[in-house]
Amino acid sequence: MSKPKIVCISLWKGGVGKTTTAVNLSAGLAMAGKKVLLIDDDPQANATVALLPKGTEIFNSTRSLYFQGTLQDAMYPSVVLGLDIVPATMDLATVELEITSKIGRERLLQKALKCDFAKQYDYIIIDTPPLLGSIVINALSAADELLIPVKGFYSLEGIHQFLDIIESVRENVNPHLKIGSVLLTMYDDHLLINKDIKKKITEVFGERVLNTTIPPNVRLDEAPSYNQAIFSYDPESKGAQAYKQLTEELLSRWEA
Ligand code: ATP
Ligand code: MG
Repeated sequence: MSKPKIVCISLWKGGVGKTTTAVNLSAGLAMAGKKVLLIDDDPQANATVALLPKGTEIFNSTRSLYFQGTLQDAMYPSVVLGLDIVPATMDLATVELEITSKIGRERLLQKALKCDFAKQYDYIIIDTPPLLGSIVINALSAADELLIPVKGFYSLEGIHQFLDIIESVRENVNPHLKIGSVLLTMYDDHLLINKDIKKKITEVFGERVLNTTIPPNVRLDEAPSYNQAIFSYDPESKGAQAYKQLTEELLSRWEA
C-alpha cells in the first residue's frame, strides 16, 4: 500500500465553490473506482451536511484529529460508495484558539494523516474554510498539492498574500506543497467577459488552470440539501457532467 495523494481545496475568499468542488470531486473519484477520504476541515460543516448520512451520530470528528484522536475513529462511511468522510462539527472553530500554545501546532493534521490506516486511500481531499488561520495552515501542511477554485476575477483580490502564505508553509513546514491546479467555478463559457477573466487568470497561473470549467448550475446548489452528491441527485445535469470531466482531467494529470 502506498501513500495517498493529499489534495487541499483552498482559497481565503468565501463562496468560490471550495465545498461544492470538494464534495463532487471526492464523489467523482470514488465513482471512478478510487478509495477516497474527504476531510471536512471547516467548522461550517457544509461538506458534512452534504455527504454524511443523515442521522449519523458523530463521536469523533476532524477536531479529534487535532487532539491526537486516530483517523480510524474519526472516519465514517459517506452516502457515496467508496468515499469515507471525517466530519466537521462547529466546535472545530475553537481549535484556532486552543492550539496556539501547542508545540508543532502547524503539523497536527499532517501527523494525524501519517498513519497506516490512511494508506488504504488513493486520495484524501481536504475542504477548508475561507480564512487564513491555523486550521487552513494545518491543511496546507498536510497536503501534497493545492487545488484553488476561482469564481470570477474578484476572487483573486489579495491572491498575492495567499501565495505568500503558501510559500511560507513550503519554506517552514511542508516543502512538498505545490499549487497543483486552478479551477474556474460558476463560469459561463458563453459570456464574452469570461474569456477575459480566463485569460487574466491564466496570466497568473499558467498551465495550472484546468481546461474543465464548472458552469453555474442550480442542481449543484440543491444537491447538498438532499444529502447527495450531484451524480446521484441529477446525473444528467450540466453540473454532473462538469464534475465528471473535472475528475477525468485531474486523474489524467495525477496518474499520467
Ligand atoms: P465558503 O468559503 O463559505 O466555505 P465555498 O468556497 O465552499 O464557500 P460553496 O459553498 O461551494 O463555496 O459555494 C457557495 C454557494 O454557491 C453555495 O450555495 C453553493 O451551493 C453554490 N454553488 C457552488 N458552485 C455552484 C455552481 N457551479 N452553480 C451554482 N451554484 C453553485
Ligand atoms: Mg465551503
